Amino acid sequence: MKIEDRLALLNYKTDKSYAHITIKPDICETCPDHFCTFACPARCYTLIDGKINFKYEDCVECGTCSVACSHGSVTWTNTRGGRGVKYKYG
Ligand code: SF4
Ligand code: SF4
Repeated sequence: MKIEDRLALLNYKTDKSYAHITIKPDICETCPDHFCTFACPARCYTLIDGKINFKYEDCVECGTCSVACSHGSVTWTNTRGGRGVKYKYG
């Protein structure tokens, strides 16, 4: 099963007024590796015209990006109660 198909099985209750993960654009701008784009299983980090685009709304809350970014750009917190990803099938 492709990752896109697996992600389509998830439910989200998006918290539109709070981003549980944020990045620092000034740090990303000079990033030499963009490792987050390879590490995130939900493809929340993408490169568009050489710039990082980040979407916290698609996050599956695995925590990988907080470890994968070794440049201090990622600030990671838990989602607020009852918000975020819902795993329907375990
Ligand atoms: S989040 Fe980290 S790894 Fe990703 S582009 Fe920014 S500085 Fe680079
Ligand atoms: S916590 Fe996991 S799914 Fe969420 S943005 Fe980071 S790497 Fe992607």
